[in-house]
Amino acid sequence: MTEAIKKVCVIGAGVMGAGIAAQVANAGVPVLLLDIPAKQGDDRDAVAKGAVAKMLKTEPAPFMSKAAAKLVETGNIDDHLARVAECDWIVEAIVERLDIKQSLYAKLETLKRPGTAVSSNTSTIPLERLVEGRSEQFRHDFLITHFFNPPRYMRLVEIVRGADTDPGTAGKVEDFVDRFMGKRIVRAKDTPGFIANRIGTYWLAVAVNAAIDQGLTVEEADQIGGRPMGVPKTGIFALIDLVGVDLMPLLAKSLSDTLPQGDPYFATVRPLPLVDRMIAEGFTGRKGKGGFYRLD
Ligand code: NAD
Repeated sequence: MTEAIKKVCVIGAGVMGAGIAAQVANAGVPVLLLDIPAKQGDDRDAVAKGAVAKMLKTEPAPFMSKAAAKLVETGNIDDHLARVAECDWIVEAIVERLDIKQSLYAKLETLKRPGTAVSSNTSTIPLERLVEGRSEQFRHDFLITHFFNPPRYMRLVEIVRGADTDPGTAGKVEDFVDRFMGKRIVRAKDTPGFIANRIGTYWLAVAVNAAIDQGLTVEEADQIGGRPMGVPKTGIFALIDLVGVDLMPLLAKSLSDTLPQGDPYFATVRPLPLVDRMIAEGFTGRKGKGGFYRLD
């Protein structure tokens, strides 16, 4: 079955999309990596190109080999989206906003070949919401493949199949993720946040609130919330820097929109003006100017 996936399109060349594209290319499979057109300069493909350059420079080891980078073609969504017809699996890893994801799927529906799998890397949004308004064929072809950050090192992928997902299409993707990308698959139900983020976002929100309420420094909080709590390389705030400071309010909004009223998560979310200010000033974490920790 896996032979059928000969080329992969990854849409969204941010933290996750770039990392997923790197892993596909490292496995020797060609990738088309697309993002929005660059706002400045002449090169409209500069966003996706910049992401490839970053994957070659990560420390302590590059996320993508130089040989693999030759397998990655880059482009922008406005000019190159029709090229999804060349691909056998389309991975969507764009911003965590239901409306933006849905409008991309509406375009993909008309451009991709019937039977080509489309999967979302969403952290929180239930599949049934993502495919609202889409055709029967699109719903057959659609699933969630939730990779973890960074895709280079995190071995788990949550897979969600919808009521209409074609088992053959989902199986083909699962087989590729397992055998070509070396990941372990866990099947999750179609619920807000699935398994990991239903637990993880709750845990993070409680930890951030406790740190603020107790007046801990970022370093103190991470000493306590890091290794002793089973988060060996980072702590609470370093993890948020890795994930993306700007992603946190998007996750909170998405969960607030989709969880049933009365879920314990609601007691943990509260507005954090500091985070809003950080995002406005470009301190979005490691992908930006730094976050709770400054970049070296
Ligand atoms: P990111 O902000 O690093 O990248 C998002 C990309 O989407 C950007 O490159 C941006 O240019 C692009 N984008 C923005 N608006 C767009 C539009 N209208 N059309 C097309 N592209 C657009 O975000 P990320 O952290 O890579 O997250 C991507 C997805 O993966 C989200 O659904 C997120 O919830 C999920 N996710 C993130 C993590 C994490 O730790 N960061 C982990 C697992 C899953």
